[in-house]
Amino acid sequence: MSETMAFFNNRLMPLKDANVNIATHAFNYGTGVFEGLRAYWNAEQEDLFIVQAAPHFARLLRSARLLHIDVPYTVEELVSRTVELLRANQFRQDVYIRPLAYKADAAIKVGLSGIQSAFAMFALPMGDYVPMQGIKAQVSSWRRIADNMIPSRAKVTGAYVNAALSSDQAKSDGYDEAILLGDDGQVSEASSANLFMVRQGTLITTPVTADILEGITRQVVFDLAKHQGIPTEIRPVDRTELYQADELFLCGTGVQLAGIVEVDRRPIADGKPGPITSALQTRYFRLVRGQDDEFRRYVTPVYGS
Ligand code: PMP
Repeated sequence: MSETMAFFNNRLMPLKDANVNIATHAFNYGTGVFEGLRAYWNAEQEDLFIVQAAPHFARLLRSARLLHIDVPYTVEELVSRTVELLRANQFRQDVYIRPLAYKADAAIKVGLSGIQSAFAMFALPMGDYVPMQGIKAQVSSWRRIADNMIPSRAKVTGAYVNAALSSDQAKSDGYDEAILLGDDGQVSEASSANLFMVRQGTLITTPVTADILEGITRQVVFDLAKHQGIPTEIRPVDRTELYQADELFLCGTGVQLAGIVEVDRRPIADGKPGPITSALQTRYFRLVRGQDDEFRRYVTPVYGS
């Protein structure tokens, strides 16, 4: 296998050489924004498909604007750069793609304006990272960051201390994932995924004002639900509704679409992923591999046309 390549300083170079100075602003203050995308290998079509490339890069540009980070590329250019990066690595397996825009000056200065920005991107092979047979979740004692502390709808590097603390607590307590409540005590989302609940046949999720990241997969789930005729509702969710839910699942680029079978050691319904979760999951995995004609426009082929 040839050397892993990254996009850094406006060109492709070996990942091992794409390094920053320890005085870099983002390294000291967490002043970066990032994205996580996946590309899935389709062995039949011998192609790699990037999932929802444009919405991810549009969100990156929105996150960057919140932090006064300049990204010198359009969404279309960022998608092209991603295709070039994946081709340069000749990936023939599922990969995770990490673009990053950050404050790059070597400066001791708390602030955002007047500090140079930089953009970098790398990709690495990645499979499932949560148990696909069902997640055991803990309602965290850590609260989700509120919008006017660190903007929760932006994907800010420093904000992931909140995700790391809650996820670490859940794992050391014997769970797979953390569900975070907002400052008001209502459900926000998981450490790095959005949360859906099924009650009496309706698919329910928390509103964008519940300090969630406005997930790209969350929108895909809405689109799939609409297509399958499943009613949806966006509204605040109480903690104890989780315990009484008919079904619960997480969705996100990283977790994909994964059923929750237990919350705080209480089984959800019969303790197995439910029928709506399983149906949506099956459809989601077809969509991401470019096998769903209805949703073919959601994926970008890397090698083919
Ligand atoms: N919430 C948080 C905090 C996340 O980190 C992620 C993963 N990016 C998500 C939700 C899901 O977002 P998406 O579907 O866009 O990956």
